[in-house]
Amino acid sequence: MARADGFRTTLAVSGRRVLVVGGGTPALAEVAALRDGGAHVTVVAPRTVQSVSDLADRGVLTWHPRAYASSDLVGHDLAVPATGDPVLDAEVAADAAAAQVWCTVPDRRASPRADPDENVEDRTERGRVVLVGGGPGDPGLITVAGLEAVRSADVVVTDRLAPLGVLQGLEAEIIDVGKIPRGRSTPQEEINRILVEQAKAGRRVVRLKGGDTFVFGRGGEEVEACAAAGVTVDVVPGVTSAIAGPALAGIPVTHRGLSQGFTVVSGHVPPGDPRSTLDWTALARSGTDLVLLMAVATLPAITETLIAEGLDPETPAATVADATLPTQRVVRADLATIAARVAAEGVGAPAITVIGKVAGFTPTA
Ligand code: SAH
Repeated sequence: MARADGFRTTLAVSGRRVLVVGGGTPALAEVAALRDGGAHVTVVAPRTVQSVSDLADRGVLTWHPRAYASSDLVGHDLAVPATGDPVLDAEVAADAAAAQVWCTVPDRRASPRADPDENVEDRTERGRVVLVGGGPGDPGLITVAGLEAVRSADVVVTDRLAPLGVLQGLEAEIIDVGKIPRGRSTPQEEINRILVEQAKAGRRVVRLKGGDTFVFGRGGEEVEACAAAGVTVDVVPGVTSAIAGPALAGIPVTHRGLSQGFTVVSGHVPPGDPRSTLDWTALARSGTDLVLLMAVATLPAITETLIAEGLDPETPAATVADATLPTQRVVRADLATIAARVAAEGVGAPAITVIGKVAGFTPTA
């Protein structure tokens, strides 16, 4: 699989120790691109946006929550000042030069801005929302149309699982409303409000999120909110992790002779939970592969239920975490043991679990 393995595509940062100064939205795309390129990233910033602190929580980068000091440069191959404050960025660049540490200052691609002379009605007319499905995380897996929308946006409202690396070099304002499972989150109503408010101010708004907007992405609610407010909304479909996740682990979701279909379900609430509307008895008997999203914490309950409902405990199963990212992990087992293996190996969200013969697929030479 082609992976975007360069930082700004020209600088090979794999295995390099990189210091990013700043943790706000100006640093977001830089951090994501460095992560995609396989760098060891340290962020120094008193505060960070949610997506950056989330990466720190998951051990993908190291975050020192304090002000920058020139001694932070010690031991780094590259410095990336991205504080959003040109004076501080210049100071970091000067310190890096003195310390003979390579330094790259994020360049800002000029995106077309609203014309201040435009009258208010025209400007309001111009405002619109595009819901862009960004694919499972690798910036190479956003669609051409999605990338074009992002590049011509005035404001990008991002999601934690979105391919944040594609925001590198954009001049657009970035609003991070990423959600963390069972953690801090921005309520959907607040996201809807931001989309409508920004579009009504005459801005071209891209709502960039992971996978496909309509696969557990609450895109339908955003379309409704925009429509209710009279805001034009377009949708650019994305590559869903439900299909791409298994694919990246070499698992075809259908395969002649193995499976004639697949069923994608959310494992956000376990079987038996009053909020669950899924018929697990029917799922156990469906004869299709099951693709479970948001089902790391609930995997023990789901697998037990499927077995109790008659699905063969030896049915192959695989869990793919961080699909398409350098941190991708795959655990293979069977229905009876997959939950214990996932727990034992410390695999966390985001992860997809596939249950069905295709999960045991091995190409014949
Ligand atoms: N709209 C997204 C899904 C959002 S729900 C899509 O179409 O892909 C969030 C869930 O998606 C996660 O809990 C996880 O199950 C899955 N997911 C998203 N990105 C993933 C990735 N890169 N690797 C594995 N699972 C992922």
